[in-house]
Amino acid sequence: MKEKKTKAAKKPLPGKDREEKKLAIKRKKTQIVLAVLLVYLVVMVAAAIIIDDRHIEITLIGPDVDIAEVGETYVDLGAQAFLTGNLFGKSVNPVEIKTESGVDVDEIGDYTVKYTAEAFGKTAVSYRQVLVRDTTPPVITLNHEEGYLASWLVGYSEEGFTAIDNYDGDLTDKVVRTEVEDTVYYSVKDSSGNETAVERKIEYGVSEPMIRLEGGEEINVGAAFTFTDPGYEAIDESGNDLTAYVKVTGEVIPYELGTYTLDYYIMNEQGETATARRIVNVVPQAKVETVMPERKTIYLTFDDGPGPYTAQLLDVLARYGAKATFFVTGNGQNYDRDYTDMIGRAFREGHAIGVHTLTHDYAAVYASRDAFFNDFNAMEDIIFEQTGQYTKLFRFPGGSSNTISRNYCYGIMSSLANYMTNMGYVYFDWNVDSGDALGGARSSYTVANNVAEGCLENTVNVVLQHDTKDFSVAAVESILRWGTNNGYVFEALDESSYGAHHGINN
Ligand code: ZN
Repeated sequence: MKEKKTKAAKKPLPGKDREEKKLAIKRKKTQIVLAVLLVYLVVMVAAAIIIDDRHIEITLIGPDVDIAEVGETYVDLGAQAFLTGNLFGKSVNPVEIKTESGVDVDEIGDYTVKYTAEAFGKTAVSYRQVLVRDTTPPVITLNHEEGYLASWLVGYSEEGFTAIDNYDGDLTDKVVRTEVEDTVYYSVKDSSGNETAVERKIEYGVSEPMIRLEGGEEINVGAAFTFTDPGYEAIDESGNDLTAYVKVTGEVIPYELGTYTLDYYIMNEQGETATARRIVNVVPQAKVETVMPERKTIYLTFDDGPGPYTAQLLDVLARYGAKATFFVTGNGQNYDRDYTDMIGRAFREGHAIGVHTLTHDYAAVYASRDAFFNDFNAMEDIIFEQTGQYTKLFRFPGGSSNTISRNYCYGIMSSLANYMTNMGYVYFDWNVDSGDALGGARSSYTVANNVAEGCLENTVNVVLQHDTKDFSVAAVESILRWGTNNGYVFEALDESSYGAHHGINN
């Protein structure tokens, strides 16, 4: 077989056929080469495309995580996008970027900005984080009143302040305020922890206030039941009235003659004091000189009333145009009706009113100085109600010479006589006793007779009667008639009248 084939191949062909055959072979070879080249080319291009891996690349301008201040404008720095590949590199023209920003600068928080680029069916996405934060501390503003100075006494009085935060708003209520010596510290934190602290130096008024004493640093006051300070005021350099802060120490015994010291002071919180001192001399009240009447005079005096017979007595006195003196007590209130108003009537009809004490109770009024004073003044108040004035006239229950007071308080009569005289009161005893009380007289006749006999011995007569005794009151008309007929005038006592003092025995 093999042989056959070789013989056949060596078999010569006609010339034309041979040429055509050679050409066809050559053409075929060329075609094959071309096909191989094409395949190679395709493979190479595909390989290049795969290796290049063309895609969109986004690059952020600025940091990946940005911080924005709350409340302020935030400007996004943006990004760039290009098509790019491993083999052929970045294309020249950028790809358009779509930016989506969720940033709210008015609200603290973490936000995202999204960048998207699309080209040739490819998409790329990139993100930036934006942190909206508050890093601005609040602002504290201190108010100041022009010319204000802290007081020496009451210290600094806050002039006011405000704290405003860019995010939290008004934080004035949250300010922590402390005062240490001459400085006030204010601090406040906002909700993000930003803190502000400011301070204020306190400026004080220059010095302590002056205490100015009305009436002077040494005064003389007449003895009295009560002492009333003439007054004072304390003003500091800023013009603040600090009078209400003044404290007074020391005591004046207003009815006891002597020299007293009163200290006025204001103490501030630091324990510093502003002081003033006053000397008070308690001196006797000016004494009214006794004037003896030139005419023969009878001073009828009626003790222990008013009572049921006082009106009748006033009628008789009025008929004769005679004036008398009533040493009154609170006994008028002890009857089935109250005769207190007779005090007012007697006063209005020109008679003198004197105190005889409210209770006329020896044990009570002579128990002590204060007991007497209280009882005396209680009666004075009634007299004031009745007459519109206080009286300076009085008669001791039992008279100044009484010895019964020894049972209650030794020496009280001389001390009371002294106190009362120093205070300007004038006490009266009597030099004619009608005998209507202890004297044993029980009839108008005896009373009138006693008075007439007594008066014959003196020019100036202070007659003791009691308008609480009907027979004594009934004797008055004959006394008036007898006196008038014998050249006497009937007068009311006053501060200059003869006291007819008996002499003190206790
Ligand atoms: Zn009496």
